Order: sequence, then C-alpha cells, then structure tokens
Amino acid sequence: HGGASDLHILFFPFMMQGHMLPLVDMAKLFAAHGAAVTILTTPANADIIRPTIPCSVQLHIIPFPSAQFGLPQGCENRSSILSEDLRVKFIQAISSLRHPFDEVLTVLRPHCVVTDMFMPWTHQIAAAKGIPRIIFHGTNYFSLCASQAFNRCRHNLDAGKPLIELPGLPHRIQMLKTQIIDFEKLAGTPMEFMAELLREVKEVEPKSYGAVMNSFYELEPDYVQWHQEETTTKTWHVGPVSLCNKAAAEKSARGGGGGQQMQGNAGECLKWLDGKPAGSVVYACFGSGSLFTAAQLREMALGLEASGQAFVWVVRNAGDEWVPDQGYYERIEGRGMVVRGWAPQLLILNHAAVGGFVTHCGWNSSLEGICAGLPLVTWPLYAEQFYNERFLVEVLKIGVAVGSEVFSFTQEGRPVVEAAKLEVAVRRVMGDDEEAGERRRRARETAKMARTAVEEGGSSYMEIDRLIRELIEECA
Ligand code: UDP
Repeated sequence: HGGASDLHILFFPFMMQGHMLPLVDMAKLFAAHGAAVTILTTPANADIIRPTIPCSVQLHIIPFPSAQFGLPQGCENRSSILSEDLRVKFIQAISSLRHPFDEVLTVLRPHCVVTDMFMPWTHQIAAAKGIPRIIFHGTNYFSLCASQAFNRCRHNLDAGKPLIELPGLPHRIQMLKTQIIDFEKLAGTPMEFMAELLREVKEVEPKSYGAVMNSFYELEPDYVQWHQEETTTKTWHVGPVSLCNKAAAEKSARGGGGGQQMQGNAGECLKWLDGKPAGSVVYACFGSGSLFTAAQLREMALGLEASGQAFVWVVRNAGDEWVPDQGYYERIEGRGMVVRGWAPQLLILNHAAVGGFVTHCGWNSSLEGICAGLPLVTWPLYAEQFYNERFLVEVLKIGVAVGSEVFSFTQEGRPVVEAAKLEVAVRRVMGDDEEAGERRRRARETAKMARTAVEEGGSSYMEIDRLIRELIEECA
C-alpha cells in the first residue's frame, strides 16, 4: 500500500456558500495531511476558491448551465441573491450536472469522491465506476440524531399538543411542531422537488461509504455515540474546518484580499470595530441567503437599537423600506453599523470588540461563533437550524433563544418576531450578571476544546489521518 500522496480525493461542493466554503476548507485539510486533492467546481465559484487554496490543491472546472435554466449568467456564486423562485431552478440546474460529473470521473479516476448531501445523484455515478462516495452533510451529529428521532415519532404525534418531545436522545429535547417540517407533507407545494431530493438523499445514504462531519468529538460526544449506535452510516468528525483559515485570515486581516472572507466592505467594518471596547459589540448576521420582510427588518432594527449595545448588523435585502423612521440612522450613528452585502464574518467574530452573536443557527455560523468563544442569540429560520438552536441553548448552554417559532423557507411564512424579544435576548447575552458570565465562560471553554481538536494529535486531526489510512487500505 502507498502513502497519502497516492490517494486522490475529488471534492465536489454544492454551489451555495454555506455548503461550498466548509467543503473547500475540508479539501485543504486533506491536502495538508498529504492526500492528492482536486476540487470540482464551476467558473464563477472557481474565481472565489482559487485565491484561498494552496497550489497543491487542483481545481477542475465544468460549465454551469445558467441559460438553460433561465438563471442569470454567473449566478453560481451568488445564489443568495436569487429570488426564492429562482433558487428552485438553481438547485435543479445543479442536479443537471450529472453528465459532466460522469465525464470528470472517467478522466480523473479519483480513488474516492466527497460530495454534498444535496447531490445524491453523484452516488450512482460514482458507484457505477466502483468509486466510493463520502457524503458531506454540512451539519452536526446532534441535528442528524434529532431528525432521526423525529422520524420515529412523526406518525404518532399528539394532535392536541403544540410541543413534541424527541424520543430516545441523550438530552430531553422539546420543540414546537411548527419548528419542524415533515418533508413528506411538501407534496403538491412549490417545495415538492425538495421533498423528492431529500427522499433520494435518504435512500442513498446507507449505500455510501460514509460521511465526513464538520464537528468535533468533544463538542457532542453523546451524539457521536448515539449516531454510531443507531445508524449504519460510518462517520468521521474532522472539524471545525474553518479553523484552518485562522492563520491566513489573521495575515490578510488588514491587508485586504487573500482569504475567502475578504470580499465586500471588510476594511471599513474592521476599522470601525477597532474603535470599540473589548466585548462590547453584538454582531448580527443570518447566513448567506436569508431574506426578511420589511416588517421583520424594522423590528430587528428597533430591537438592536433598544438593546443599548453597539452592533454590526448584516442586512441581505436590497432596498431601505425597513428603516423604521427618518431619524434612525442618526440615532444609531457611531453605535450601529449596517453592512449591506457580504461581511467578513470570520474576522468580525474573532475581533476583540465583539462580545455576542445573533445567528440564524446555520451550522457554519454556529460553529464559527463557537470557535470565537462567543455567547449567542439564536434565531433559526429553516433547514436544520431549529435543531441547532436546541443544541446551542439546551445542550451546550451557550445560547439564548429569541423566540423564533415557525419553520419556513420563505420570509412571508415566518411570523414577525417583535423588537422587544430581540432586545431582551441581546441584553441577557451581553449582560454582566452571573447567568451571562457563566454562559460566556462556557462559550470560551468550548472554543478552547475546538482549537485543541484540530491541533496536531487532537481528535479531529487524528480522525483525518484515520480516514486517509482507511481509504489507502481500501482503494489506493
Ligand atoms: N458568511 C460571511 N459573510 C456574510 C454571510 C455569511 O462570511 O455576510 C459566511 C459565514 O461565515 C458562513 C457561511 O457564510 O461560513 C454561511 O453558512 P451558514 O451555514 O451559517 O448559513 P447558510 O448561509 O448556509 O444559511
């Protein structure tokens, strides 16, 4: 058997920032452990990825069928700005990459492919060529376990009760029914294709070689174990993968350019933070693609103002319909910064001035907040974010829930959370009472565990070596 460099792994990220960025980081990690690594992507994403990868990582580019699906040219790296309708087409366009993927496997002949969960079709293509496929979920063990638990009880829910208790998990986890979506109930709705896709995802999962997880053992040992005992999918926990950017991010923090987080108005925002006392600023951001109604943004604006804290708030929506009144910007001048577009999130979270994070609980953001040692205000919207909220609030006890009660893929589908709720949650997280202090202490402890996990000899570091060794034995 050969060494790691004889092992060629092809990574194929899904073209949405929240899926692509961590899988690119993972590819870099496997390259750092000596494997030969190729990333397969489309032209507009290649432009983003190229400056962030070392020359040892190869990029292989296939065209994206924008025109064929009525999508704007080059939209593959801006899916977050697409309307909700176009996002459906966008996901369908990605599924149409079967043929080029097949050709790439024929030409490159990798020993193994790591592809996003939302590309279940890569499984059949790889399997037909005898190439093992590893799944990248982009989430944690807790949410996989929680959704399994929900599957076991969804057919006999008590119609009279708004709360569900997820059965059989290591912690007592309760959720509102409105916070969980039963994908089988999407038939006949515009999201039906999503249900179809997820059915396929579930069907191929047990046939895959296994799954790599952007998590680390010490974060959720009970759930790593639960998953091992209750499912047949092998997993490797190799995260937090974003920590591989730490050195690069620090180097380019003031220089501009370089790391993947340096697009947009990075310099201005960081300079503003430089002028603030340590731990005094709240950073609010809802991921790469979350839009809100003007009514909701107005409440957010007022809630942040009323919290009395300094804040950096990333608003993804175009337009200004949400600005509460003419005096708003004047009142928050010097205290609140509204970022339009893409914020340098990793750099902001790790800036000494930032002391709390209002997050939609996307797993990357959650983990980045954890790594920065910050207490969180949780405001989930859809996907597995409501599970992540339970994990952050009930298991890790580093978050305060704002009170988001309804899962919905659309901005109109979610009832408005009033300003007062955000104000209260931010005050609790940023407070100087014992409860807030304890929460901060736990957050810092968890961050320390994360750093240890990725260091040489740490649990995630060892896990990458373990997977590489196993793959060499089996395929190289
Ligand atoms: N992100 C960023 N700037 C922004 C918004 C998001 O750098 O203005 C990054 C963030 O750091 C994270 C990713 O985009 O790595 C979002 O992933 P997440 O899983 O949190 O949410 P999603 O976008 O998938 O809903």
